Amino acid sequence: MDFTFTSEQDAWRQEVRDYIRAELDPRIIAGEEAYRQHYKLAMGFRKKLGAKKWIGIGWPKEYGGLGASPMMQCIFHEEMIYHHAPLDSQAYQLGPAMIKHGSEYLKRKFIAATAAQEIVWCQGFSEPNAGSDLASLQTRAVEDGDDYVINGSKIWTSMAHKADYIHILVRTDPNAPKHKGISYFVADMKQPGITIVPLIDMSNEHHFNQVFFENVRVPKTNLIGEKNMGWYVATTTLDNERSGIRDVARCRRLYDDIVGAMRQLKGVSGVRRDAGALHKLADMRVQIAVSRNLSYRVAWMQDNKQQPNKEASAAKIFATELEQRMCRVGMEITGLYGLLLNGDRRAPVAGILPYQMIVSIPATIAAGSSEVNRNIIATRGLGLPR
Ligand SMILES: Cc1cc2nc3c(=O)[nH]c(=O)nc-3n(C[C@H](O)[C@H](O)[C@H](O)COP(=O)(O)OP(=O)(O)OC[C@H]3O[C@@H](n4cnc5c(N)ncnc54)[C@H](O)[C@@H]3O)c2cc1C
Repeated sequence: MDFTFTSEQDAWRQEVRDYIRAELDPRIIAGEEAYRQHYKLAMGFRKKLGAKKWIGIGWPKEYGGLGASPMMQCIFHEEMIYHHAPLDSQAYQLGPAMIKHGSEYLKRKFIAATAAQEIVWCQGFSEPNAGSDLASLQTRAVEDGDDYVINGSKIWTSMAHKADYIHILVRTDPNAPKHKGISYFVADMKQPGITIVPLIDMSNEHHFNQVFFENVRVPKTNLIGEKNMGWYVATTTLDNERSGIRDVARCRRLYDDIVGAMRQLKGVSGVRRDAGALHKLADMRVQIAVSRNLSYRVAWMQDNKQQPNKEASAAKIFATELEQRMCRVGMEITGLYGLLLNGDRRAPVAGILPYQMIVSIPATIAAGSSEVNRNIIATRGLGLPR
């Protein structure tokens, strides 16, 4: 792997950085919590990105994308998250799977609209009894004329209450081996038969939902890929969820903010500057460098038409667990002041730390838990028996 960026990549990073600094409303700069409070502002910003074709950076131009490389997309994501800008994570997960496996009808109907942010998605994979063992999912879809009829429920569906469409895995052949009886559909979230029940998470936010489907009709044309082959389409979606670049960007921003507070001549309330604190930060600096390189490697492999798998798992584990370590170090260095929330003028690092600490916990569960990703490294990476 080449560890240096090309001049084109450096210029792209600078262009993205300049754009965010000029265009992002300061009310959404204060972290994810504020982003959720200012959802309309965030959507306005995402629409502007769509107009610049920056939502579908890596997608073909004929579908509203920019046709750029995976490394350019990686740099974009890193800069967006570092600057607390709102990303449409679902677009980046579903888009490549639909482009690779979807019919021309689906691509024409959905990809350009997603790139322009006219459509917002949620993901319907997990079920109450199918999380890590996703292939055990039980939501059923049965053929009926030109449609399939869906019954069942999905859980932990992030932002379903804001979504226009869901991309959903359902069982279409209950008699086949579990990986071979699953199909992948897109369904309109605003149709009869769909009930969305909020689940409030540990950050006290409405992010998750349980979504119930009762005789929900989906046209056959909404099938992505072939019937009963949805598992293999979904692996493309899942591969795009894991790279760690967003987690390490959040981590690096916290690190930079804490170092900035320590550097101030008069110091910031409660921020330690003793030798123990310096050593901890130095250690974090090394780990952040490692984590960035693991994530860049995933993008570099994609640039070179290789399929990252165990590499993506390693980058995801390292970055998400590092974010938790960085938050703990941040708390130790800022002490009781670190507990103060955004809006309190005594709060160090803009009061982001308590919220970031809480949301760093589910990051090691989302998109495949650390244990599941370690299983992937052990079996596919090291060739160990299952
Ligand atoms: C922030 C967040 C956002 C999410 N958003 C969505 C979404 O939008 N759409 C969606 O469909 N899902 C979403 N999920 C769900 C997520 O995919 C699941 O939570 C995850 O796959 C784990 O499944 P589970 O919660 O059922 O836990 P389980 O699978 O029940 O696991 C429980 C524990 O057992 C461990 N474990 C399970 N199997 C093994 C094994 N084979 N070896 C070792 N340990 C094992 C796990 O690591 C975990 O610690 C989200 C989750 C989070 C945290």
